[in-house]
Amino acid sequence: MKVVGIAGYSKSGKTTLIINLIKEFQKRDKKITVIKHRSCGLLKNCPRLSEDKNSEEHHCEVIPETDDKDTQKYSALGVSTLLFSHNEAHAVWKREFTFEELLSHVDTDIVVVEGNKGARNYPRIICTDGKESAENLFVGLELAQYGKKIYPLSNVPQVNDVKELCNIIETRGFKLPDLNCGECGYNDCYELGKAIVKGEKKIEDCLSLHNNDIKVWLDGKELPMKKFVRDCFHGTITGFLKSLKGVHKQGSVKIEF
Ligand code: SF4
Repeated sequence: MKVVGIAGYSKSGKTTLIINLIKEFQKRDKKITVIKHRSCGLLKNCPRLSEDKNSEEHHCEVIPETDDKDTQKYSALGVSTLLFSHNEAHAVWKREFTFEELLSHVDTDIVVVEGNKGARNYPRIICTDGKESAENLFVGLELAQYGKKIYPLSNVPQVNDVKELCNIIETRGFKLPDLNCGECGYNDCYELGKAIVKGEKKIEDCLSLHNNDIKVWLDGKELPMKKFVRDCFHGTITGFLKSLKGVHKQGSVKIEF
């Protein structure tokens, strides 16, 4: 699965770009999911969505935002579209939903994430409209810069051709687990991600991603575990299961409480 973010401020062309990417990937017979993150929540009439950004009061109607215009545009193209926020996911779960948890329900070739600008575990294409937005959006994970008014950033290619952008996503998209375990030798996933974008490292350098035979999720967030802890968990659970009557062969295990 190739993951890429599309970051940019309002009216920077993100939605148009995503629509064009969807169309191009569909021509290539690729399944694509669009995940939209809205930091403000999924409710109608939220004052934080309006010009009144300083309002402390939250006057939202308690109605899920089912008429998000961008989401409707993506859905009309027949692709899976998920809308999520800090406290709920569109029409499905009324609780905090982490990006990782959401992604675990997705099984497509490509994932394009609109918004979620704070994410640091996958690369991004930035939609810019000049110096200020380019400098503010730059975090070192940029595969390309797209927009009418491009401000040159070192080592970030300027690409406005959608086919070329699709090629970049297909060949260079990735997602690190965001566990920040340090097993790759970097302090966190962000540092390895920047090295991958620079071409100095590869996704295979994330040891956690490739050695993980057990994952533990707490309240929807995967817990980072060193190899020793993983081995302890794995040994304890498999040992317990083997002692149960009728359990002869073990495939994947799911425990929830
Ligand atoms: S090994 Fe993987 S999960 Fe751990 S910090 Fe490095 S990139 Fe992140």
